[in-house]
Amino acid sequence: MKLVIIGAVAAGTSAGAKARRGDASLDIIIYEKDTDISYAACGLPFYIGGITDDIEALIPRTPKDFKTKYNIDVHIEHEVVKIDPVNKKLTVKNLKTNEQFYDDYDKLVIATGAYAFSPDIMGKDLPHVYNIRTAKDGIAIKAFIDLNHPKKAAVIGTGFIGFEMLENLIHLGMDVTIIDNDDKLTPHLDQEMADLLYEKLNAKGINFRMSSVTKEITEDEIIFENGDKLKADLVILAIGIRPETRLAKEAGIALGETKAIKVNSKMQTNIEDIYACGDCIETYSVITGKPVYLPLGTSANKTGRIAGDVITGGNLSYQGNLKTSIFKVFDYTVAMSGLSLKESQSAGYDVVTVKHTARNKPAYIGGEEMHIFAIADKNTHRLLGVQIIGHEGVDKHIDLYAVLMTYGIKVEEFFHLDLAYAPPFSNVKDAVHYTGMILE
Ligand code: FAD
Repeated sequence: MKLVIIGAVAAGTSAGAKARRGDASLDIIIYEKDTDISYAACGLPFYIGGITDDIEALIPRTPKDFKTKYNIDVHIEHEVVKIDPVNKKLTVKNLKTNEQFYDDYDKLVIATGAYAFSPDIMGKDLPHVYNIRTAKDGIAIKAFIDLNHPKKAAVIGTGFIGFEMLENLIHLGMDVTIIDNDDKLTPHLDQEMADLLYEKLNAKGINFRMSSVTKEITEDEIIFENGDKLKADLVILAIGIRPETRLAKEAGIALGETKAIKVNSKMQTNIEDIYACGDCIETYSVITGKPVYLPLGTSANKTGRIAGDVITGGNLSYQGNLKTSIFKVFDYTVAMSGLSLKESQSAGYDVVTVKHTARNKPAYIGGEEMHIFAIADKNTHRLLGVQIIGHEGVDKHIDLYAVLMTYGIKVEEFFHLDLAYAPPFSNVKDAVHYTGMILE
């Protein structure tokens, strides 16, 4: 049997590695149009900021490694340009030679990921304007900075990548402004928490330009729709991404309501023997069961592994997600899991919310405040979503809340959780206990 995979970053390589573990005799081929494979895109902002100089640690594997370790043939600079599902054939273009050839498959995995959304802004193709999506983008931004020593940078977009870039460019000594069309930062935070984050970062002297629509980028300026101008000799676009679905669509593979590829819990598309995984697919919410587009490394690895398992006869299946995510901006950690208040209300839940502040450990041993916003369903007493802004301990807590939501534990049960306590780590009554006690 022959398995062909399209795309070799997180999802495609996870699918291949798992398929190899499941079946030693399978022929596995991966086509990747780029030159870099299996890289940690998540580390790119920190590479640009000089937190790590080791690009090889972010791109640790080569096609040779895949051959040696997994007996998988990875063909880089090979773009799959067409899928013919009737004859189970692919048209592949060798980007080095421009030659086209055909290949066939018994099972096909589409792991084509996502691409950076390119807004309709004049000047977005100027040499000092960058998206940050691929390893090449990260390397190019770093090379630009090393060569040109920009002094004033603008980051457009206040999602987690925008904030990571903001911090890393400031770390390099640049005067950075972060810009958003909206008056609220970070799309997945509810207003109250977004306002709190804004307040905290504003107090640190971060330059914000909220409600500012960029009309044009020139060689040294950003021009906004209202005519205002901002000096910038480096511009980072961190505006969002879109699932890469062209190939799939042309082959008759169904897309879901989020416009990403529709798969079932086994990563099967509507066409037999064609699977999809990673940032190109639509998943679903544990809470509502409704479609979700979750372009994160966590999901790409998981869904890739499920595809590889199912193809080789395993019985893994996808269990849904909470869109759990976390990012660091200076000494703050911002994390969220589950539905926002807005999402809960539009899904028709009768909600109760609580906003409280708790320390991660006692103040006398350096405990710091965590601001917690939790949303619960009045009818089922289940937690629907949590957002936390704080410092140390936010990571542990968001994961705890995620477990409680995954298993639908009622808020009145939180108090009974037997959690570890000693002053260097935690409080005798944990933030999670308080959330439950306040909500019940
Ligand atoms: P991709 O990484 O998009 O890879 C798809 C590959 O398919 C690409 O290399 C593409 O060239 C190839 N391809 C597409 N079409 C074809 C074709 N026709 N033929 C051949 N090859 C093709 N996630 C987290 O969970 N936590 C984080 O902290 C985090 N930080 C991030 C920071 C940054 C700056 C970025 C960019 C992403 C971050 N992510 C994070 C997201 C995470 O990196 C992605 O979710 C993950 O890389 C998705 O993997 P993928 O394999 O599905 O898709």
